[in-house]
Amino acid sequence: MVVIGGGYTGLHAALRAAERGFSVILLEAGRIGWGASGRNGGQMIPGWRKGASELIGRYGPETARRLFDLSMEARALTLETIERSAIACSLRTSGHLTLAAKAGDLAGMHAQADTLARVMDYPHARVLTAADARNRVPVKGMHGGLLDEGGGHLHPLNYALGLAEAARGAGVRLFEHSPVLSVETTGGLRARTQTGAVKARFGVLACDALLGGLAPRIARRIMPVANYLVATGPLAAPGSIIAGDLAVSDSRFVVNYFRMSADGRLIFGGGERYVPQPPPDIAAFGRAHLLKLFPQLRQAPITHAWGGLVSITLSRLPHIGREGNLFFAHGYSGQGVLIPALAGKVLVEAMAGTAERFDVLKGVAPPEFPGGALLRAPLYVLGMLWYALRDRL
Ligand SMILES: Cc1cc2nc3c(=O)[nH]c(=O)nc-3n(C[C@H](O)[C@H](O)[C@H](O)COP(=O)(O)OP(=O)(O)OC[C@H]3O[C@@H](n4cnc5c(N)ncnc54)[C@H](O)[C@@H]3O)c2cc1C
Repeated sequence: MVVIGGGYTGLHAALRAAERGFSVILLEAGRIGWGASGRNGGQMIPGWRKGASELIGRYGPETARRLFDLSMEARALTLETIERSAIACSLRTSGHLTLAAKAGDLAGMHAQADTLARVMDYPHARVLTAADARNRVPVKGMHGGLLDEGGGHLHPLNYALGLAEAARGAGVRLFEHSPVLSVETTGGLRARTQTGAVKARFGVLACDALLGGLAPRIARRIMPVANYLVATGPLAAPGSIIAGDLAVSDSRFVVNYFRMSADGRLIFGGGERYVPQPPPDIAAFGRAHLLKLFPQLRQAPITHAWGGLVSITLSRLPHIGREGNLFFAHGYSGQGVLIPALAGKVLVEAMAGTAERFDVLKGVAPPEFPGGALLRAPLYVLGMLWYALRDRL
């Protein structure tokens, strides 16, 4: 089997396949974790990017329950893999808090907690009052929040590197700096690089937002959106910024998300850009968003600033499927720390002949973005700008 892409999806698929006795080669264009897996905010948010109530509205209670259970399995698999392979990634299962940026968001949060408890048998999410939320995260102007005790955070790159070690240990042959230039699917599967080719019975495309040029037809269902993060220097009293070591985000469409690192830095993501060029000064761009929520950190130095591409789908559920023996999973829409463990597992299950769970996920594949190759990006940008404007209004 050949896996293209060395992020969480490719690494989990490779690890699972090797454990099932497949002979596996993984080809990574850059270094392991070079894509979103090495750059993300490290927030472990249980569930899908769409909440339980929305899943029920869109797919009906039975499929919604099935999807929710799969997302819980993703969380369990992630934690189990970290433990089993002793991955040192500063794992914290301290919970995830979504702050309500608008008073109107609270009603949705109550409905969400209620649906989770009643329909999904998930009693671990509850709504916090504005005062309770402010006691945990002293941000002005928030109206309360939804605390999910199943959430948490980790060090994203160390998680990817640990997965790579585990995969190597299971017999996967990993090749970095090996961009795949083309994949042929007729007459057996063949992945070509500059200097050679890998022939295999099965393949996995795990390139996420960077898939475009390699498989344009499959990539029509995802849209890369750039997102940026900053890290402060270690803070004297990290517990006064986030109590209980929670992972935190807010309910804005252009979401702010933040957590503490193991050495007491605030890792803060916020502000998206819909143009391919990064802001001229990423640190200044990120800091401006950070200071809107935490003006008390005006004196804190920004020591690191970086960005990455999030792949978004129209339904905000991932695009998981196959074309012949070429399998793929991508488009986690900003919630791709936990789900790839499940994606890797179900892809390999399907290769091994058990496609029941794969079919559930394939069955909710997102639609293509409208507008074709030329117009889909501008049309999408217009839509996103409209929602971002609503945030501001
Ligand atoms: C800035 C940012 C913040 C985020 N924050 C969070 C968060 O806090 N919580 C959360 O749940 N999710 C978050 N996400 C999303 C999450 O990081 C991703 O969904 C997840 O990492 C996707 O993993 P992946 O393995 O599918 O893709 P990636 O990690 O992007 O891996 C794809 C790999 O494929 C390689 N590749 C591409 N083309 C080729 C080729 N032709 N040949 C060989 N290799 C190739 C790339 O180099 C890359 O390493 C964030 C994403 C970003 C960008």
